[in-house]
Parts: sequence; C-alpha cells; structure tokens
Amino acid sequence: MKNLIFFGPPGAGKGTQATIISDFLKVPHLSTGDILRKKLFDKDDLAIKLKKIMSSGNLVSDDILNSIVSSRLKKESNNGFILDGYPRTLKQSQFLDNFLLETSNTINCIFDIQINFEILKDRILKRSSEESRDDDKIEVIETRYNEYLNSTQKVSNFYKDKYSSIFYEIDGSLQINEITEKIKQIIKKS
Ligand code: AMP
Repeated sequence: MKNLIFFGPPGAGKGTQATIISDFLKVPHLSTGDILRKKLFDKDDLAIKLKKIMSSGNLVSDDILNSIVSSRLKKESNNGFILDGYPRTLKQSQFLDNFLLETSNTINCIFDIQINFEILKDRILKRSSEESRDDDKIEVIETRYNEYLNSTQKVSNFYKDKYSSIFYEIDGSLQINEITEKIKQIIKKS
C-alpha cells in the first residue's frame, strides 16, 4: 500500500505531481485545496466563510480541515492515499498522526518540492490567467507564501526530523517530467 504526502509552497507543482502519481499508483489523490474549492459551489454560510478566507490567502481553520480529511481518509485509506495540501499546520499534523495510529496506517514516502519565491510567483501568475483562481492574484500570493513559511514549513521540518528515512527533497525548478521521473524512481525503490 502507498500512503504519500506532498509538501511545498503554493505553485511548486504539488498538485500536478500528485495527480500524475495518483494515476501511476492508482491511489486516490486528496487535495484539500480542490475539496475546499468544490465546497464553494454550495453557496451556503460555510461557503461564504471559506471564500472570504481562501481569496485572502489565509488558512482555513484546523477543525474544518481535520474533519474533511478524516472523513475522506476513513473512506479511502484502505486503498492508500496521496495527501496534497495537508497537513499545513502542526495541529493538523498531530491530528493526522493520531488518525494514522488509530487506523494502523503509516506514511510510506514524503516529498517536499522546493522552489524559490521568484519562480513560483511567475508560475502562479501564469496559472491565474489559465484557471482564474481568486487566490492567484499578485497581492494574495505573498500572503499564501507567508502562510507557507510561518506554518507549513514548520510542519515539513517536523516530518523531516521525525521521518528522515522516507523524506525526500525535490528540486521544483526542474521540468514537470523530470520531477515525475525522480519521484517514480524513489517510489519504486521504497
Ligand atoms: P491550495 O490549492 O492547496 O493552494 O489551497 C488553496 C487554499 O485552500 C489555501 O490558500 C487555504 O486557504 C485553503 N487550504 C487548503 N488546504 C488547507 C489546509 N490544509 N489548511 C488550511 N487551509 C487550507
């Protein structure tokens, strides 16, 4: 069974790689950003609240995220899973660790896709013209990147220390297919 986590700043290519690897391994891809963006279509009170937070580039509350992820993992964890965009805070990582312990699951590989701010700013602006995401505006990118530095990087560093033997740093400035190849090689060996 394959349980994977993808870390990296917004625009690093986590979603692209997670989609390709999900297809390669036939393992469900769980992107919390995609799940939340789908919830926006509900147009209820929660959707209004989420839209405000997401379009400003801030993080949605841990309680909402933990409940979304645990209900999806309960359904899917027998087939393995690829987490993309979660955990993003230390509280989320504690919740995930407890969940895995309770359900006798473990993580097999963690990929941290690294890229500098200038390259990712260009990529996100290009994506904004293709996908018209509310949070791909120049003024929001900085907030999202700061959320990454202040919260998520602490989480990936925590995993890097705790799970050093299964933690892989990947150069996100490479071409998409080169990154995929590196990830596939690691998965094949693990
Ligand atoms: P993403 O597509 O992963 O960049 O996520 C888009 C937005 O969804 C983020 O900027 C956050 O507002 C929200 N979001 C996604 N995943 C999480 C998470 N694990 N914790 C908190 N907020 C999240």
